[in-house]
Amino acid sequence: MNLIDGKKIAAEMRNKLKVEVDIIKKKFNKVPGLTVILIGDLAPSQIYVRNKEKSAKEIGLKSEIIKYPKDIQEISVLNKIDELNNDATVSGILVQLPLPDHIDKKKIIERINPDKDVDGFHPYNVGNLSSGYESSVPCTPLGCYLLIKKIEPNLSGKKAIVIGRSNLNGKPMAQLLLKENCTVTITHSKTKDLKNECSKGDIVIAAVGIPELVKADWIKKDAIVIDVGINKTDKGIVGDVAFEEVSKVAKALTPVPGGVGPMTIVCLLKNTIECFKKSLK
Ligand code: NAD
Repeated sequence: MNLIDGKKIAAEMRNKLKVEVDIIKKKFNKVPGLTVILIGDLAPSQIYVRNKEKSAKEIGLKSEIIKYPKDIQEISVLNKIDELNNDATVSGILVQLPLPDHIDKKKIIERINPDKDVDGFHPYNVGNLSSGYESSVPCTPLGCYLLIKKIEPNLSGKKAIVIGRSNLNGKPMAQLLLKENCTVTITHSKTKDLKNECSKGDIVIAAVGIPELVKADWIKKDAIVIDVGINKTDKGIVGDVAFEEVSKVAKALTPVPGGVGPMTIVCLLKNTIECFKKSLK
């Protein structure tokens, strides 16, 4: 079995992006910038945002975090987004989710200029992705896609099973694979006989949030298995795939941690640089 080392692949990508940022600085005398808006004090969100800032700075991007208390009014956030949309030094804007209940997520996402939407959540980008046009792509599925392409550059005709249909993971993942001419099945909590669906997959992507849901007898021999899940359990962080047993059947498998997670962050950096390039056009 080929262990897909997301940490190593992400590090290689980071090095290349750092070189690209250096070239941009020399050529345009500008620094691509990522601004993250963090509302409230949820511990996981604070950790994610800190990691994003650290990674951005490591490759030479300008990085800023704007923090608001959890009772901030929606209009204040919308006004700040307007300001950032008009700020030429800001290439990418990310509003860390989840948001407090009184703030309308859809309204916030739709206010971000699609050309600065590093998360790829704006309906304009979602629409472009599903139409097969160029678009900003959500970071986690983009990371999964790059890992799959490393293992199998030609995906045409492969059968891909995506478990989970979230806007964050499952749906954009399916669109990316469809664009590569895979035959894609999206499964979810109401799917009948998930095991049988999974067992048909040349590629299986699990983005569910249930510890070790996917077992060895769900997986076709020599399938590529990508585990997006991050689940806290008594034995530590585990994915949605029963790693030990599935590793005996799969051709390639991502570990948790160290698989998809590091790719998510590096894809955010990649998206920020892509947004900067769009601003030059
Ligand atoms: P979500 O809760 O929005 O969606 C989960 C999906 O799983 C839903 O579409 C649901 O229909 C499906 N589902 C639920 N129970 C199921 C079942 N029994 N059988 C089949 N499908 C079922 O979650 P999400 O935001 O897409 O995240 C999924 C997992 O990925 C979580 O563990 C999350 O922590 C993790 N995650 C990891 C990264 C990363 O960088 N590695 C990034 C984002 C999310």
